Amino acid sequence: MTGAGRIDWRKEPAAAANADAGSAGVGQRRSESDGGRIILPGSTIGILGGGQLGRMLALAGRHMGYRFVTLDPTPDSPCGQVADEQITAAYDDADAARALARRCDVITYEFENVDAGVARMLEETSYVPQGGELLHTTQHRLREKRAIEAAGAPVAPYAEIRSVAELKRAVERFGVPCVLKTATGGYDGKGQRVIRAAEEAPQAYAELGGDGAELVLEQFIRFEREISVIAARSPRGEVRTFPPAENIHVDNILHMSIIPARVPQAVREKAERLAVRIAEKLGAIGLLAVEMFATADGELYVNELAPRPHNSGHYTMEACRTSQFEQHIRAICNLPLGSTELLTPVVMVNVLGEHVEPLLKWLAAQKDERPGVAVKIHLYGKKVAKPKRKMGHVNLLASDAEQAFEWIRSTGIWER
Ligand code: AMP
Repeated sequence: MTGAGRIDWRKEPAAAANADAGSAGVGQRRSESDGGRIILPGSTIGILGGGQLGRMLALAGRHMGYRFVTLDPTPDSPCGQVADEQITAAYDDADAARALARRCDVITYEFENVDAGVARMLEETSYVPQGGELLHTTQHRLREKRAIEAAGAPVAPYAEIRSVAELKRAVERFGVPCVLKTATGGYDGKGQRVIRAAEEAPQAYAELGGDGAELVLEQFIRFEREISVIAARSPRGEVRTFPPAENIHVDNILHMSIIPARVPQAVREKAERLAVRIAEKLGAIGLLAVEMFATADGELYVNELAPRPHNSGHYTMEACRTSQFEQHIRAICNLPLGSTELLTPVVMVNVLGEHVEPLLKWLAAQKDERPGVAVKIHLYGKKVAKPKRKMGHVNLLASDAEQAFEWIRSTGIWER
């Protein structure tokens, strides 16, 4: 596979790009009737964002015969390396987004903080089956929590915080510990503070932006496991879920996912039902990742949603009949969804910047694959391996999680 073609998109005449894409009317505003529209292989899929999620989407879609154009500010981005073309421009560059729309039959995104103006513009000029509404909801913790509650799913008790006085009252009501979070822009544990004593409230408030910041306080859930379910829904209304993953975070970054999740079967089933309900009530198209806390007595609380492929779904690449990436392509293109059946127990472990060198050393020292654990390495083509940066992941197909843990220990790769 060759890298992305370099194109000077600013010089290209409008509406020229799709001349041979085989689809009628790209560039025109779409209507309700698009609900049944099928995007067949041979068509071009545009991905806003050129990171690893876009890369794995493009790899899955290329197998099926789709073409890809990605938009990302970093030249030779992880997705750009495997797409047909990359438009190198800022995410909020409306001209560049328009150029993307002209080249593509359908547009998707690989991160949720898509600029609202760009999302609107794309919806007006091209076919964006996921729409902008769910994106708008998931960009804001309060909107997201209200939507989850409206779908009939439980969330941790929370309060909107607009002043330090409000925060003090809410801390009193929920008790400590409790968690203060910014309503927007937080990820991998950024934009949040655990308040362990009432006196810490003013400092946490100030650290997260103080007056004028939009904040939310959550009761601390003493969960036993963190789990996630990825649902897929297509315009024709078909919904499928992948088996729940149990997620272990280190320093607030996902370290590993264990599948099957080590919770009772009834809890796994309940989690899948919740994800289906949320995807249906919110009218999601494509993937919707639902992160939850599972308590020892079998209660589930939904923590966060992500309307895109999710790190905790990378295990599906070899362990399920259909990967989350193929499923997303099928869903946005309105093809029948694939089977999500789990073929083998699996542990996914993330490869961060500090793990790349030991992983490559381990790989170089291998003489042949040892029986037992099948080690599936995925690296994202990022040039600089900064500590904590997600550089890749490894899927360990094993007879059980213990066998995979033993492999992880034996390599020493994740010791630091
Ligand atoms: P978030 O940014 O909301 O995904 O939170 C990051 C991590 O902080 C979660 O994966 C949990 O481990 C922890 N956390 C967040 N909210 C809560 C809560 N209300 N109760 C307990 N732990 C939480």
